[in-house]
Amino acid sequence: MTDALWFDPSLMLIGGEWRAAQATLPLTNPSDGSPLAQIARGQAGDIDAAVTAAHAARADDWGRMTATERGRILTEIGRTVLARVDDLAEIEAHDVGKPLTQARADAVALARYMEFYGGAADKITGQTIPYLDGYTVYTLREPHGVTGHIVPWNYPMQIIGRSVGAALAMGNACVLKPAEEACLTALAFAHICRDAGLPAGALNVVPGLGAEAGAALASHASVQHISFTGSVRTGALVQQAAGANVVPVTLELGGKSPQIVFNDADLDAALPFLVNAGIQNAGQTCSASSRILVQRGAYDAVRERMADAYAALSVGPAMDDLRVGPLISTRQQQIVNDFLAQGADLTIAAQGHLKNAPEHGAYVVPTLFADVPPDHVLARDEIFGPVQVLIPFDTEDEAIAIANSTDYGLVASVWAAHGARQMRLARALHAGQVFINNYGAGGGVELPFGGVGKSGHGREKGFEALYGFSTLKTVAAHHG
Ligand code: NAD
Repeated sequence: MTDALWFDPSLMLIGGEWRAAQATLPLTNPSDGSPLAQIARGQAGDIDAAVTAAHAARADDWGRMTATERGRILTEIGRTVLARVDDLAEIEAHDVGKPLTQARADAVALARYMEFYGGAADKITGQTIPYLDGYTVYTLREPHGVTGHIVPWNYPMQIIGRSVGAALAMGNACVLKPAEEACLTALAFAHICRDAGLPAGALNVVPGLGAEAGAALASHASVQHISFTGSVRTGALVQQAAGANVVPVTLELGGKSPQIVFNDADLDAALPFLVNAGIQNAGQTCSASSRILVQRGAYDAVRERMADAYAALSVGPAMDDLRVGPLISTRQQQIVNDFLAQGADLTIAAQGHLKNAPEHGAYVVPTLFADVPPDHVLARDEIFGPVQVLIPFDTEDEAIAIANSTDYGLVASVWAAHGARQMRLARALHAGQVFINNYGAGGGVELPFGGVGKSGHGREKGFEALYGFSTLKTVAAHHG
């Protein structure tokens, strides 16, 4: 347990009340395997109560509030999050195993989402549409109603910020199901929301298992939109369950995102991005860049410089705040180790090293593989660990073909000095975001984000999310 935890983590928030569940689940600190807390094991009945409470909020204060008032509350939530950044970072470091600096960046991003969506809440307008003589036609942007948010363990604060923030800005009432591996900052956020004046029922939080609380939320007939971030397998289940009720879903399912380095790239500028995008959050990032495609003329230099950077990476407990912490769980550690075993036929260019890492922590040392064939399993599958592969290429066409050869399409980046090439690649790459001479653009609260192919569909972040969390009504008035 951490001293930063200022609330009882075993409760769920339903209709403004903190309630106990019938049973609890244990949370483990991935840095050393020690017990961290007990959380609620919400069931279908709890989800049902939360959905009912959300509908009641929509019918009451929350539903009647103006967009400006909603925006003020979100802005106040953002302020309160900022005031508690250190507590939130410490809680997240214990729960997710995220090095403290990275956990702090997530807390700041959560505040930033609230500021952004607080400011945006009253900026969404409709259109007037020229139509037949004697008509006035206009459109209204309306909330879906009650939205479900199923969140994974890798970036709880950022993912809650981008999905719950946008949904609340549009006037939806939310039911949030955090991941069973890490849900303390979801509960902390719910406390902050209530303290900042969010009306009862506008946000409900029911922790629990995916197969229980998660499945109950995805299949609930009175939920009007589902936002899901996680694995492809679970995303497909969620889409199927929501589809039975004809409920729209946004799916954000990860990727195998490439960075493509051409001979004329500025390697000094590229290097920190090439490495960091692979090892940040121990590689457990949906938009991690796990494939580095390098043109033959720059290949040896990139390999050597990345290998040096890898050799300097130390891995240890989250509170030691090294570059890399543990993975979320020993289960995830096993998944990543199984992938590494499948790379036994490959050349390891370099690896990081453990530093004061407790025996029972879920550690994997970062590993950089060189000269990896593009069709190798490590070059195609999402590993979700600190593993990157270097793939050489000769021509631009070859780079595009390799980059587009996985089932995923979330993020891509192009490192090249040649302007026309940058533009050609930006069009040709299958991805929801393409970065030119950078990667990730500092978090990108303002930038629409989402994938193509098995990376999912729908867009979160930026103004685009506000369209996703609302529906359009056309009003055609005949006045002669
Ligand atoms: P998951 O997709 O099973 O879990 C994500 C969320 O979905 C959790 O809140 C979970 O409780 C919930 N869930 C699980 N089963 C559900 C169901 N049947 N109905 C509704 N909700 C359900 O992911 P995981 O098992 O935690 O991780 C497995 C793999 O998924 C990882 O190795 C990684 O490759 C990938 N992953 C991707 C992301 C991402 O950001 N895209 C995040 C986490 C995990």
